[in-house]
Formats: sequence, structure tokens, C-alpha cells
Amino acid sequence: MAFFATNKRWLGAAVVSGVAIAGYMLTSDGRNSIRAGASAYSRFPPSADFPDLSKHSNHMAKVLTPKIYAKLRDKRTPSGFTLDNVIQTGVDNPGHPFIMTVGCVAGDEESYETFKDLLDPVISDRHGGYGADAKHPTDLDSSKIRGGLFDDKYMLSSRVRTGRSIRGFGLPPHCTRAERREVEKIVSSALDNLGGELKGVYYPLNRMSDQEQEQLINDHFLFDKPVSPLLLASGMARDWPDGRGIWHNKEKNFLVWVNEEDHTRVISMEKGGNIKSVFDRFCNGLKQVEDLMKKDGNEFMWNQHLGFILTCPSNLGTGLRAGVHIKIPKFSKHPKFEEALKKMRLQKRGTGGVDTAAVGGTFDISNSDRLGQSEVELVQTLIDGIDRIVEMEKALEKGQSIDSLLPK
Ligand code: ADP
Ligand code: MG
Repeated sequence: MAFFATNKRWLGAAVVSGVAIAGYMLTSDGRNSIRAGASAYSRFPPSADFPDLSKHSNHMAKVLTPKIYAKLRDKRTPSGFTLDNVIQTGVDNPGHPFIMTVGCVAGDEESYETFKDLLDPVISDRHGGYGADAKHPTDLDSSKIRGGLFDDKYMLSSRVRTGRSIRGFGLPPHCTRAERREVEKIVSSALDNLGGELKGVYYPLNRMSDQEQEQLINDHFLFDKPVSPLLLASGMARDWPDGRGIWHNKEKNFLVWVNEEDHTRVISMEKGGNIKSVFDRFCNGLKQVEDLMKKDGNEFMWNQHLGFILTCPSNLGTGLRAGVHIKIPKFSKHPKFEEALKKMRLQKRGTGGVDTAAVGGTFDISNSDRLGQSEVELVQTLIDGIDRIVEMEKALEKGQSIDSLLPK
């Protein structure tokens, strides 16, 4: 798969997505509309519109057949999201150098129902065979966690994040400017009411200097500018930076992103290896944020089957990614590194975010599953995995074999 790494960042299909973005900008109502247009849909049969997926390796490309495409091509959600909108990012981005991507997005809560015939198998493929009738559990009782205090020698930082979407508004690939601004208003006013250690301030991007923004990005607090081809091609970068921002408390250990990939991303993080304390703060803070938003009459997008509804099907369920920035120069060079991570249900990224390569044996390691297991279970998977990884790194430092420590 072809990609360019500039500034250690993946800029894969930037040119292709530039074209896509130009197409989106032409729409008058602020939503993406399919470039083919509704009239073209009736002029040409679905087979003439089927995308070329011959070089693709994302989940969508594995699942989408001409038959599914034909069945869904002319459908729209009540707010007008189409199948072509759903799959555009996966068509424009055949693969990703560092992770297996999903290759599709939702434009609104109803996308998961309207495009079920595509999204159910994608969800099943991404989430380890999650059944079409399965029920998703939620558990935010952090007292159930065992362990979670890692050796700081290996750990740079610990973080837990999730996302929440507000019912009745388009998701970032498809929302109008007005919807985006209203989401910003709802979230920032709710967060104004947090007190004590969680008291904080909302900083909209359009009132932040480039330097301030760059500093927050470099310190890992803020999402990157929309250079990611995945973000661009999905339509999520329209109108940037309008309606986007970051809220954080004074300590910068509890943060909320507004209108990046999801309406909200709620994050707890700190330096060092105390993921237990990070998860405690995450659960406590998240409950308060949820209560404040509900008090104002808002509901989250949620259902029993898919749990919390987010833009990317990879984040359905808990939306939870618990991870550490970890220094493992020895284990990461071991031939069984990748296979072991997979067996432990863990995912690796570079420390600059999903589109960056790892440098110097330092990785972002996190749980890879989000759906079908509770928050507590997923954080425990991460903790048990990291404990094992540290044990293996220590053994390799002493020149010992790790054969007996590798996951079966
Ligand atoms: P997410 O899945 O939360 O969107 P990304 O891979 O897009 O994560 O990265 C977003 C930002 O969060 C990046 O700046 C990244 O460095 C930072 N980040 C992710 N995990 C950690 C961690 N464990 N410690 C510190 N920063 C982190
Ligand atoms: Mg991200």
C-alpha cells in the first residue's frame, strides 16, 4: 500500500481527499451530498457506481459486495446520509500503514439502521464476531479493577478516553454548521457547571493562537489539525476550526474534545503509570458530564445492541480506549511482538496519535475491543496485558527467553 510519511505522520490519500473535500464544499446546506447526485442514481444502475476496491484492505472493502451496494445505494437516512457518504473514507483510503481501519463512518444515529446490511457485517468483522442480536453491557464502577499501578520506568503516561454523541444532531461527517455550533454550546455550557478538581475552561479553536494549539497538540492534550486523510475524506474536517474546541480542568488531567471525530471525546490522562487513578477520575468525571448534559434535556445516542453510538463503527459500545505510552525497546523488536499484542486483544500506535509511526521503541498500547464488553472488562484487559508486557521486557533485559511468558 502506498503512503507518504511526512513529519512522521501518515498523509496517504491527501490528494484524493482534497478532491472529495472540494465536492463537499459545493453543497449549499452545509451537509455532504453525494457527488453523483440523486438524479445520477436513477440514470445509472448500481453496478456502474460500484467503487474500485481492488487495492483495499479495510473492513468495509472486505464486506461490501455489488449485491449489498445495489440494495443500499439509493437509500438515505432521514437527514440525508447515503451509502456513498458512509463508505467514502474507505474508498479514498485503501489501507492504513499502522492500523486496520474500518473504512466507513456514520453520519447520524440512523445510519446504523438504514445501512445495517453493510454495517452489521463490518461491526461483526471489526468486533470479533459481535452478533446482530447481541446486547452490549456498560459498567463504570472503577472499584472493580485489579492492579493498574505500572512501573514508571516503562510508562510515560496513561490515558482513558471515550466519546458521547448527542441525540438529534448530525455526526461530524454530516452535521450542518448550525448543528455543530449547537453541540458546542450544549457541551461547553454543561461543562461550565463542573466544580472542585474538575473545574475547567472551554477553549474554542478559533480563538486559540497557532502556537497555543501546537503546544497542546505536542503535549498530547489536543487532537491534531485535520491532516489525516481518514478525517478529510469522511467529511469531518469541513469548516475547520468552526465549532471545535477543547475543555480542560486546571491540572489538564480531565479533558473534553468538542466536534473532532465525535460530538464529544471525554478523556482522563496523566503522566506515569497509574491507570487505576486515571480510570477512577474517568468514571467519576464522565458520570458528572453525562448528568449535567441530561439535566439540560439532552440524551446520548445509545441502544442496547450497539451501546454508545459514535461516528466510527470501531468505537461503538463503550467508545473506550485505555492506553499507555510505554517504552519497550526490547519486546517491540521481538519477532512475536505483533502476534502477542493481537492475542492479548491490544493495539499499538505511535505516540503522536493514530497516524504516526512509533519511534525509539516507545508505543501507544491500548485495548483493541470496544463493543460487547464493559468499560471495566476492557480496562482490565489492558492492565493484564501491560503487566505481561513489562514482565517480558524485564526478562529480555536480562537476556532471558520469553517463550513461557508469551500469550498462548
Ligand atoms: P484517540 O483514539 O483518543 O483519538 P489518537 O491516536 O487519535 O487517539 O491520538 C490523539 C492524541 O492523544 C494524540 O496526541 C496522542 O498522542 C494522545 N494520546 C493517546 N494516548 C495517549 C497516552 N496514553 N498518553 C498520552 N497521550 C496520549
Ligand atoms: Mg483520534
